[in-house]
Amino acid sequence: MTAPLFERLALVGVGLIGSSIARAARATGAVRSIVASARSQATRARVAELGIVDEVAESNAAAVDGADLVIVCIPVGQCGPVAAEIAPRLAPGAVVSDVGSVKGSVVRDMAPHLPPHVHFVPAHPVAGTEHSGPDAGFAELFINRWCILTPPEGTDPAAVERLAAFWRKLGANVETMSVAHHDIVLAVTSHLPHLIAYTVVGMADDVEKLVTRSEVMKFSAGGFRDFTRIAASDPTMWRDVCLANRDALAGELHEYRALLARLQTALEAGDGDALEAVFRAAAECRRAHAPRLDAE
Ligand code: NAP
Repeated sequence: MTAPLFERLALVGVGLIGSSIARAARATGAVRSIVASARSQATRARVAELGIVDEVAESNAAAVDGADLVIVCIPVGQCGPVAAEIAPRLAPGAVVSDVGSVKGSVVRDMAPHLPPHVHFVPAHPVAGTEHSGPDAGFAELFINRWCILTPPEGTDPAAVERLAAFWRKLGANVETMSVAHHDIVLAVTSHLPHLIAYTVVGMADDVEKLVTRSEVMKFSAGGFRDFTRIAASDPTMWRDVCLANRDALAGELHEYRALLARLQTALEAGDGDALEAVFRAAAECRRAHAPRLDAE
């Protein structure tokens, strides 16, 4: 095994993502030691019991003491207060990162608290499941998935490369983009699909008069079933993500509603050509990208 990329990794938050990073960092030898903290005593105790880190700290500030890599793995709405909490204990030269699904709000909330002697490199591993908590993580989560880095202008390129090397070691492909671009890309590829899944599955409640909810579940073919998996995602986390990315998401939602309105008009008018044109464009889009999507 090659030399570790970092001496001491501090994970602030050890849910699905934090515990997957712990497991993957250990499995790959990416770091020499791992210390973690979590908000509740119950989670800290569970992480110690699972034995996936070397040390569990009693506070977020204590966790980052002496760490040369700090990754904040908590809900995006918590990032500001937690940055303020850890800032006085961050070691000079440390790389400080996060995993938040939205980057604009995280950078806005964290950056003002961080001292100039650390390198802030925000990140988003585009990988996950609908499960939460330290038991839900697994070492292979990031293999062949993207991790997007959004370093603010002027960030030391060496620090960005060190973090990129860490994510590559965990199996991820790394891409760098601006914060604003990240938030638009993710609004389209992840946040809007979650909103749609929540509404489509929520409709199962409303159809009760015509068909029973159990019939909806029993006879659900691939489409509805896939929506139910996405709609099982943590509602609190997705509330936070939607609010944190509200501008980009509202823009995409506006476009989506316009397209739905076109479909409704076509449907009511019995305009098969218009319906088929929309379906054909989408099918062609999928076909064009199928080899890459199927490989992931
Ligand atoms: P999770 O499983 O619910 O875990 C959240 C963790 O954060 C828990 O350990 C929680 O501790 C801890 N936490 C919350 N507030 C804290 C605080 N103030 N101080 C210290 N720890 C705190 O969530 P997750 O799915 O890992 O998501 C974490 C982040 O990853 C989010 O920002 C999300 O946007 C991002 N992300 C998620 C996915 C996904 O699919 N889930 C994918 C990519 C990125 P307690 O258990 O003690 O409350």
